[in-house]
Amino acid sequence: MRTSYHNHTLYSDGRATVEEMIAAARRAGLEEIGISDHFVLAADGRRFPWALSPESLEGYVDEILRARQDSGGITIRLGLEIDYFPGMADRVAELLEPYPFDFLIHSVHFVDGFAIDLNAGPWEGLPQEERDRVWRVYWEYLRAAAATGLGDIIGHFDLPKKFNYYPSADLTAEALAALDAVAAAGMAIEINCSGWDKPVKEAYPAPLYIREARRREIPLVITADAHEAGDIARHFDRARLLAADAGYTELVRFERRTRIPYPL
Ligand SMILES: [Zn+2]
Ligand SMILES: [Zn+2]
Repeated sequence: MRTSYHNHTLYSDGRATVEEMIAAARRAGLEEIGISDHFVLAADGRRFPWALSPESLEGYVDEILRARQDSGGITIRLGLEIDYFPGMADRVAELLEPYPFDFLIHSVHFVDGFAIDLNAGPWEGLPQEERDRVWRVYWEYLRAAAATGLGDIIGHFDLPKKFNYYPSADLTAEALAALDAVAAAGMAIEINCSGWDKPVKEAYPAPLYIREARRREIPLVITADAHEAGDIARHFDRARLLAADAGYTELVRFERRTRIPYPL
């Protein structure tokens, strides 16, 4: 059994249609494909051209549900990657309530207006103490995101490492507290393979956190965070080895927000 759950399309910042992503998953021999475009509801009402808006949600859901009717033997899962903003969880839950989602990925991409993963530029211009602050608040927000209970999977756990800017102090304790929150929320974690293709050249999360996730019995998903069809199962074999090294023997998939384990 092979699944790929974290995938973007033209509905957000992907470069392929829903149909093209599904076709790529079929070609890659996957049994399940999940689409999880960005859904961003910022506290200040800001709009992001690269994300689904509340108005575009219905069309997105309709297209994915329609694709199921002629799926060519592959199971299509309805997902979303939701951005964490303090104080917005109830409103987001309310907006998503009418739809039959299979899984929700909860991610932190912003720390008080600072875009963590857009490009290296904002990091480059930041004094080290500000970088430290971004990392610190990131772990706080990730903990808070888990505690909202909104998501099923926590997105790219240690994302701020993307451009190789690290905190000057050791924040492992903060990261482990975030993992504790993920465990307490009953959420899964992803080995997000996109990191291998970024400046950091390492999957999210780092091996230490995968081992720590295993110790906490946090369920695991392997994802590509694909923004184009060719990336639909990138580095999955490598991720399986990483998961096995950390002691994992099974992965999970989702149906209507219920976890289903299967052998690694
Ligand atoms: Zn993301
Ligand atoms: Zn993503």
